[in-house]
Amino acid sequence: MKRCHNFNAGPAVLPVPVLERIREELLILPGAGMSVLEISHRSKTFEAILAEAEARLRRLLSVPDTHRVLFLQGGASLQFSMVALNFLPRDGVADYIVTGSWAEKAVEEARKVGRVNIAATTKDDGYARIPKPAELRLNPEAAYVHFTSNNTIFGTQWATEPEVGAAPLVCDASSDFLSRPLDVGKYALIYAGAQKNAGPAGVTIVLLREDWLACVPDGLPTMLDYRTHVKNRSLYNTPPVFAIYAVGLVLEHLEAQGGLAAAAAANAEKAGKLYAAIDSGGFYRGTAERGSRSLMNVCFRLPNPGLETVFLREAAAAGFEGLPGHRSVGGVRASLYNALPMESVAALVDFMRDFARCHG
Ligand SMILES: *Cc1c(COP(=O)(O)O)cnc(C)c1O
Repeated sequence: MKRCHNFNAGPAVLPVPVLERIREELLILPGAGMSVLEISHRSKTFEAILAEAEARLRRLLSVPDTHRVLFLQGGASLQFSMVALNFLPRDGVADYIVTGSWAEKAVEEARKVGRVNIAATTKDDGYARIPKPAELRLNPEAAYVHFTSNNTIFGTQWATEPEVGAAPLVCDASSDFLSRPLDVGKYALIYAGAQKNAGPAGVTIVLLREDWLACVPDGLPTMLDYRTHVKNRSLYNTPPVFAIYAVGLVLEHLEAQGGLAAAAAANAEKAGKLYAAIDSGGFYRGTAERGSRSLMNVCFRLPNPGLETVFLREAAAAGFEGLPGHRSVGGVRASLYNALPMESVAALVDFMRDFARCHG
């Protein structure tokens, strides 16, 4: 029994100290006399867990007082709908910057609510890049501008947020949330499913500027109205107790490791090492344009599909998990989230070097 090298795109690798802590506390949560799986969401114990998770998140991201923190369910996918239902007026328009499949899905949901202006898309380039600032065609009437900070499937990432003037900026940050510092004050709303960098599946973190809630129309289903969750501090109904507890432990671990600046430095080092291996020798080929490369999801190809099949089979046998690219694009994808240790990247780079030597 040995832990594998976990390159899964999500749910993904978690820090070992967090898993050990969960194991330690699973039968009896200190002070509770029962497991975290058994406590009431109305208990003092859980209230403390929730408050501490929020406080840690606020410290790590320097979340300004203007913004509220929510722990919701339904995944990032439900946020595609909630953002539009709450902030896209029925007779209004919103700008969407389309850089991959998740952005396409967000557009699809927004179109059920109001009009969508595709402010930019890199579909014709196979989503291999992030659009340049000059390519953005923003609608001055737009209720908000939505973008995807990291494109999990295509392996591209915004180096910094798009310049959108005064329009409220909305970001699907699911796959690079907590991988680097973020200027939360620039955003009206940020959402992220926890299962990439922040914890296990089952909870979605939303940061939203409270004054924007004045735009929310009445009559939405209660659970889909952000005001419900703001008013009830994420406790309108039963929240995902265990997932929030685990996110709290991940945040505690991140703080102990030096916060987001330290995480960003480690992530840059890991991705740098892997991209260097891809770029050397001409055997492997990165699929994203260099200026748009993701530090979280590294996508690459081999000289032909047959070799890719052999590579993935041999990699799996050697203990590398999760390397096949998304089923819609194929190839190889190594996800390098915060909790993936450098040793896993080093082992993959060694494996790649040996494989290229053998088959190049
Ligand atoms: C994983 C992912 C999603 C989907 O998240 P769910 O929690 O499964 O709904 C959406 N957007 C991005 C960028 C993702 O990486």
